[in-house]
Order: sequence, then C-alpha cells, then structure tokens
Amino acid sequence: MNWKKLFNKKPSEKHFTGKQYTAEEVLKIKEEKEIIMDRINKTSVEYNNELEKETKKHNSECPKCNGIEIVDKIIFNTKSNTSLLGGSYTNSEKVVLNKCKNCDHEWNKEEIYYTDMIFSSISSIIYCCRFLIDLEKCTFDPLDPIEKFKTLDEKKENLRTKISEGSYWYDEVKKIFDGVSADAILVFGKEYVCSYSYERKWNEYVNKENLKKLGFYEL
Ligand SMILES: [Zn+2]
Repeated sequence: MNWKKLFNKKPSEKHFTGKQYTAEEVLKIKEEKEIIMDRINKTSVEYNNELEKETKKHNSECPKCNGIEIVDKIIFNTKSNTSLLGGSYTNSEKVVLNKCKNCDHEWNKEEIYYTDMIFSSISSIIYCCRFLIDLEKCTFDPLDPIEKFKTLDEKKENLRTKISEGSYWYDEVKKIFDGVSADAILVFGKEYVCSYSYERKWNEYVNKENLKKLGFYEL
C-alpha cells in the first residue's frame, strides 16, 4: 500500500464532486485495462486454438478403430409432437454425423462454440464475489430437507474452495486480473458487461469491498 498517496488523497474530492479519479489515477486505470485486454486476447487465442484442435480430432478420427477416413452422414430425425390445441404434428431435423469408412462406426459431429473471454472473465468475477457473499452470510439448518451439507463448517469449506487456487472461477480471475487494481476491474466491468441480467448481477455482487477481499488493491 502506498501510504503517502493514501494520506494525500482528498476523500471529499474523490467521492462527492463527481470527479471520481485524479488524472494520475485515470492513467493508471487505462494502463491496467490494457493489461487486462492483452491477457484476454492471449488467453482467447490459446483457449480457442486448443478447442479447434480437439474438435478437429473428434471429427476426423474414429473413436473405435482410430481410422481417419471419415465421411459425413446426413440423417433426418423425425419427431412427433403434440400441439397445445391437442392435435399432433411431426417435424424433421437435419443431423450430420461422422461415419468411419473403415468400421462403419457413426458418432455425433461436434461444432466449435468459441469462448468469449471477455464474457467468461466477467462471469468468473461475478461468481467469485457471489461465493464470497454466500460465505459471509452462510447459515446451516440441519432440519432443512434440501440442505446438502452435514455441518456449517463443511458448507463454509466448500465455498472457500471455490474462491481458492484450483477453482475454475478463481484461477480464471487470477489469470486475467492478477496484479491490477479493484478500480480498473470495476471500470472494465462497466465498459464490457453487455447483457441486462449480467449487469444486474455485476451491480449486485461486484464492488470494491469484495474485490479487495479477493486480494485486489485499491487505487
Ligand atoms: Zn472406425
């Protein structure tokens, strides 16, 4: 923590005039946002390349005989449905399968759904903050029939592991945001949270206090 900076800060100016940050702090936030975007781009390329490789392998090698002469087989799945008014109707859905020319094995063709790392990193931040709040508010009722845990400690421990190293969400948060300020993360979120439901969740869970508890520093 930079104590000199902390004591030089004018809280009234920082919080109540609408001018939230000093010129120096704005510069810092912009630099940190570039760091975040660089990491997002890098991770996105790594992750989606890997996804492409896996999908290509899934569609070009037979899982039964390892044959590599694979052709498309088109089928139409016809389903019969009942309409809301009582009558029934059918519809057909075109499905493309992989078929091995060596052993005739057929399996589903996989499509690539590219991961949007901006969306993914925003979701991970929301999850981590949510787990943190859940941990703080955690209660235990042994008489609750939908209670999954045996003790309060066990329940809390489960939440703790979700915001520790080794958890998918926490590790992604660290990978993208490690070392940047809580302020830069909040500005990044304001800029990139795109759907209404995510904006609502972001505003509900993600704030400076929670980000500080997750280990991010404050400008
Ligand atoms: Zn085969």
